[in-house]
Amino acid sequence: MPHSARIIMLGRQGAGKGTQCVRLAEHFGVPHISTGEMLRAAIRKDTPVGRSVKKVLDAGELVNDELMISLVQGRIGEDDARISGYILDGFPRTVGQAQSLDHITEVRPINMVIDLDVKRELVLERLSARRTCEQCGANYVATGNDPNPWKCDKCGSPVVQRADDTPAAISHRLDLYDAMTAPLIDHYSAKSVLVTVDGLGTPDEVFARLRLAVEGLQQR
Ligand code: AMP
Repeated sequence: MPHSARIIMLGRQGAGKGTQCVRLAEHFGVPHISTGEMLRAAIRKDTPVGRSVKKVLDAGELVNDELMISLVQGRIGEDDARISGYILDGFPRTVGQAQSLDHITEVRPINMVIDLDVKRELVLERLSARRTCEQCGANYVATGNDPNPWKCDKCGSPVVQRADDTPAAISHRLDLYDAMTAPLIDHYSAKSVLVTVDGLGTPDEVFARLRLAVEGLQQR
């Protein structure tokens, strides 16, 4: 791994970001920072933050920038992220968040932004079939012939459909992505840190492409 790779993973919901970030983080030994997971963990633990964001998440809306920025600023300031870098998954999601992140990371800038590219029609299908471990966030694909009760292979907790993976919330989240998050592609392209990776194919094929892209950082 390059010294302190600080990576952002962009891509539509259902593009495979979560699954691929877990694998990349494991492979390269850097923390995977998923803001969605941080929020869902806060909801599970019924913390004040969790209570304040539950309705927003269930409706597929965006949590306000201020709260998100303070969560991320705290997390990337922890020792593991300061020393080894990190893979940010689900943040930034608005131009305002990206500008704040530019500011926060002035001393240790982001050195790669990956756009994991999968078209909208395809992610719609994937998201409807997505099932998720409510404890560790591992993702599975429902086939209609699934175990009942369904337990996570990794941690044994129940595998469920996320409250925001209903058709109405999915469609709303994808609209928000196009309106609020897609403009970040221009933001990072202008900084010459953007790499587009094709998200079509099996998880192993996509991982191989992503690994190569990240290894490319070492050559810089
Ligand atoms: P995700 O797991 O990345 O799909 O995130 C799930 C939900 O968490 C989103 O639909 C938002 O409600 C909230 N969320 C996660 N990250 C952010 C962010 N950077 N800004 C605003 N809301 C977020």
